[in-house]
Amino acid sequence: MKLHRRCAVLAGFCVALAVSQAADTILVGGKIVTLDAQERVAEALAIRDGRIVAVGSSAEVLKLAGDRTEVIKLDGKTVLPGFVESHVHAIGAARASVTETYAELSSIAEIQDWIRRRAKDVRAGQWIEVPRNEITRLKERRHPTPTELDAATTDHPVLYTSAMKHALNSAGFRALGIVDADSKLADGEIVRDEQGRPALIRGGNQSLRKLMPRPTVTREQTMTALGKLLRRYNEVGITTIFERATDRDGVAMYRELREQDKLTVRMRGTFRFSARTAEGVEKYVKALGFKPGEGDDWVRAVSMKTTLDGGIHWGTTRLSEPYGERRTRFYRLTDPNYRGELYDTPEELKTVFATVNHLGWPMSIHVTGDGGTEAVLDVIAAVAATDPSIKRRRFNLLHSYFPTPAIARRAKELGVGVDTQGYLYYRDAEAMAEVYGKRWAERFIGLGEWARAGVPVAVNSDHMIGLDPDHAMNSFNPALMLWIAVARQSDRGHVYGAAQKLSRLDALRAVTLWPAWLSFDEDKLGSLEPGKLADLVVIDRDYLACPVKELREIKVLRTMVGGKTVFLR
Ligand SMILES: [Zn+2]
Repeated sequence: MKLHRRCAVLAGFCVALAVSQAADTILVGGKIVTLDAQERVAEALAIRDGRIVAVGSSAEVLKLAGDRTEVIKLDGKTVLPGFVESHVHAIGAARASVTETYAELSSIAEIQDWIRRRAKDVRAGQWIEVPRNEITRLKERRHPTPTELDAATTDHPVLYTSAMKHALNSAGFRALGIVDADSKLADGEIVRDEQGRPALIRGGNQSLRKLMPRPTVTREQTMTALGKLLRRYNEVGITTIFERATDRDGVAMYRELREQDKLTVRMRGTFRFSARTAEGVEKYVKALGFKPGEGDDWVRAVSMKTTLDGGIHWGTTRLSEPYGERRTRFYRLTDPNYRGELYDTPEELKTVFATVNHLGWPMSIHVTGDGGTEAVLDVIAAVAATDPSIKRRRFNLLHSYFPTPAIARRAKELGVGVDTQGYLYYRDAEAMAEVYGKRWAERFIGLGEWARAGVPVAVNSDHMIGLDPDHAMNSFNPALMLWIAVARQSDRGHVYGAAQKLSRLDALRAVTLWPAWLSFDEDKLGSLEPGKLADLVVIDRDYLACPVKELREIKVLRTMVGGKTVFLR
């Protein structure tokens, strides 16, 4: 048997639970990256009743083999802990997949091509809506003009939405009754170009929805699509997901899949509310009907969610400085002194945090900007002054795109974790450099900043639309996330802020152990150790030794959840 050098050194070690019965499954002759405290790499691993019972050398682990043990020969392949994808909107993506086709588009020419293709399948006069692709990710960094959309079709009204503004072609404006300089929109504002012609619409959502009603999708259709999507997650090695804005029925869907034996990923639920008062929060939590952490290893309720600011794609992220001239022009705002949104006052936020904490729940806070993040940390510190239990509750920041050393240090002191999106660095870093400036691009998705301060930082997708692991909004391929975390290259190959790169092991922790910490699962998930759930992936190359550029090409050969193979290439 060919032993890897590091394995050979460790060939003598074997960590096992006291097991009297034979293992169900044994994986032997591989390079098992355990991610245990000693960062050990083992050759073999044994599984019984869905849990890992031994990790060590092939010879020692094979002692646990019995007549009915399935022995999987790894032939030197690498095994990693199953990926814990801590931010998706899987139900929403599944529902959308029933009626919409998603395409990732990177320029106005690609948008035009997509419209032209679509126009062949859609009856003249019917609306064509361009799939969600933000202007930060278009080469031109702006909305298409009506003339550019007309070049794709004049037979159909066309809608393209980004940065909370709608671009339309001439037929689209006509359909909305916008035909001359005096035209008005009841629920929106018409943004005109220098010649006074309508260019964009700010608002107007109700008028648009009336013209293009959303198709209805049944719960049954959604469930079927969800089952399929979970299989796609398995294909890229995802074994646990966090539904980051769900409700009682969302949990019920996963429980039903589990009962039908169709659940192939574990689910952790986060529940979004908009309450601003103690009574409002208490009422919401009571109606939800779950106790903190209620559920089992498959489906569990983990945190509450509130939304504090907007986003970098919309021009609403709460910054520590005024937007200034460049950002104002890019987002088509009007006031350069604008700093972004804060949907709660500090007093409201303090009440919400104190109440959620008192009820025993962690809080996940949507906060993208640094100004917003500072506001959150101020409020957690204020609550901690009278109730230090909040520091053990694992409150977490969703997104928090622009950390500084001071922000990361305070997060650590307050026991706060982070959930952020590596793919956004890849797709949006160039826009950040152009529109926000290089200094901001260097801080953008500052994984190194969080890791250096000892803050558990979970890297995930925020997957919402599309089924292609590499080209969805947003990509949910963990191999791509690992490469981005290690290489920190934008889609144009630039590295902004080399100090934000993670080591390979830390990048791996960011998609396994650190997200597991966010759901209090670090004793069950995220590493390959005896006693933990047998969630793992076998991959096609050596994660620790392959060239960096190959990390993004890693293919999953086998995915196991609870010791059961849910994907085999
Ligand atoms: Zn999200």
